[in-house]
Amino acid sequence: MEGKCILCGKKSLNIITEIEDFPVAAQHIPSADELEADRGETLRLCQCSRCSLLQLDNAPVSYYKDVIRSGGFSKSMMSSRKEQFRYFIDKCNLKGKKIVEVGCGAGEFLKVLDEFCVMAYGIEHDGKNVSLAQEAGCNVKPGFAEDENTVFPDALYDAFISLNFIEHQPKPNDYLQAIYNNTKEEAYGYITVPDSMITINGSGYYDLVRDHIAYYTDETARLLIGMNGFEIIESGNLDVYTLFYIVKKKRCIDRNAFLHVHDGLSGMLNTAVNGIKERGGHVAIWGASHQCFALLGTTDLKYHVDYVIDSAPFKQGKYTPASHVPIVSPDYFYDHRVECIIIMAFFYEDEITRMIRDRYGSDIKVLCLHESGGGGFAWRNMMRSVTYGGKYHEYKNHCMVIPLKIYPGCRYHKGVVCVL
Ligand SMILES: [Zn+2]
Repeated sequence: MEGKCILCGKKSLNIITEIEDFPVAAQHIPSADELEADRGETLRLCQCSRCSLLQLDNAPVSYYKDVIRSGGFSKSMMSSRKEQFRYFIDKCNLKGKKIVEVGCGAGEFLKVLDEFCVMAYGIEHDGKNVSLAQEAGCNVKPGFAEDENTVFPDALYDAFISLNFIEHQPKPNDYLQAIYNNTKEEAYGYITVPDSMITINGSGYYDLVRDHIAYYTDETARLLIGMNGFEIIESGNLDVYTLFYIVKKKRCIDRNAFLHVHDGLSGMLNTAVNGIKERGGHVAIWGASHQCFALLGTTDLKYHVDYVIDSAPFKQGKYTPASHVPIVSPDYFYDHRVECIIIMAFFYEDEITRMIRDRYGSDIKVLCLHESGGGGFAWRNMMRSVTYGGKYHEYKNHCMVIPLKIYPGCRYHKGVVCVL
């Protein structure tokens, strides 16, 4: 270790305590002839000042990739796992799906998983465990979630299970990235990790174990899961010692949808102004906003618009960047009348519409542009209530809204032209 946090990567580890004579490994119990060589070592418990993960600043144990389940598999433990799996499979609709346990030991829990109508697979680093699992009839292959380039046997999977294994991992992000890349787009996961609140509260320093390189709390476990492309859909404590998380891979914004919005908007704007232009009319924009600059710069609208009105004196007399349309004051209109004004000052449509009606008369056509649907990365959903209804709606008595789907099936972008 180089004093770097294993979760966030910052060199910001503060030593909380150093404990001398600590057993070097929980899994190697010395025999009589090994006592001479067996010594404790100093355990350095640290906390990251950036992400707050509690962790050891000691090298990981040599066998951290192997799953060692030495605790007896009591009936209550097995029935508890059974209930957890049943809940996970029902909740995420995983009947008939491929589920992989990453770090499956000798397949102890895979046998439980096999009782449900799923295709259960296991990956295990320790060769002896792999043989034992295979002998027991489990579908287990050698492997380890090393990093993002790791290819699991039989991937891709619909879901994964990781049971008390993350706390052993000196590279937990790499471990989850391997899982991320070996699961399908909408995959689910079930993760358990020891809850270290007791250790952190100071009463359980003897809960520290050299095999566990990290001590997660709900806060730091969430950080780890979220940083690696998964969202938590349910979580809680299985018992005072164990946290569980049901997770799902996050959806990325659809790149094609992004492009379709441009094409759709461009077409919509052309349709909106063409009729007016064909009749020899003129069009202006209200609002020298960044949205106006972007739309003028990237569509043909810049060739059809005479000027942009803006009330801010510091913008007047200048030109829209990239598209070079003059920006003028509201008074400019009186000597340069247009038949249509497109409002591009989102959130202020009502106020500006009233202003246009009061100042310039009621015969001016006013167009507004809206995005709706809840994506929220470009424009906020202004008119959710009216766009989710039928084809035509009255909007505050002075506006006819015509919902126009720009990109069918895209949940982020539903364009709306409002003709007032
Ligand atoms: Zn950190």
